[in-house]
Amino acid sequence: MVYNDSVEIDVWQLPIPDWGLGCPKCRYLLRGLPSHRCPECGTKLNMSEIVKPWHRLRAPRFTGEELPFPDFGLQCANCGRPLVGARKHACPSCDTPFDLQAIRPWRKWFVIDGEMCGRVPLPIIEVKLGMELVPYMQQKDKVLREIYMGPRMLGSRLVAPNEFFFEVLWLIRRAELEIEDGRARAETDRWACAQCGEENPGNFEVCWSCQAARMAGGE
Ligand SMILES: [Zn+2]
Ligand SMILES: [Zn+2]
Ligand SMILES: [Zn+2]
Repeated sequence: MVYNDSVEIDVWQLPIPDWGLGCPKCRYLLRGLPSHRCPECGTKLNMSEIVKPWHRLRAPRFTGEELPFPDFGLQCANCGRPLVGARKHACPSCDTPFDLQAIRPWRKWFVIDGEMCGRVPLPIIEVKLGMELVPYMQQKDKVLREIYMGPRMLGSRLVAPNEFFFEVLWLIRRAELEIEDGRARAETDRWACAQCGEENPGNFEVCWSCQAARMAGGE
């Protein structure tokens, strides 16, 4: 299965889909409208402003039920090996069953924090969520933070709806693989600048020293 087709949604499409949006002035439910004008109060509807990152514009890519098990970066609770590629809901290495319902958070919104993102910086994940139209919100409620995380950890956090949990795991995992891949290429694919002779990491397309472009096929 290929999941990397990009997500594009025109927020100006008509009729207005059922995105749970309301008129910013009178809160009339904007669903199925044939134009960008509120039929209740006549307000002109600026969809670019009305649609926010937390609105659900599409269904999640993953429910977690997909088999073979996609790469969500999850490991077996028993042996610690990756669960990716499992043909049933059991570890491919030790055959211990895993329970998706136990993995999935039970709250309506779940927290995406530095711990969940591992080596991927949270701002990168936020950009990805925006690009992929995964609904999310920044969690600014200090009181909530203190309840869940303790007052010492006031780093920024995001929250996303439960039904997008596996998609968020998958995006984090992909970002992690991209970072690993970039590092690997930086190491294995080093090149010497044709102009100044300086050695450059493989992921650089111009010389870090003299800005000359990397020569195709050149050393
Ligand atoms: Zn209105
Ligand atoms: Zn196992
Ligand atoms: Zn150079």
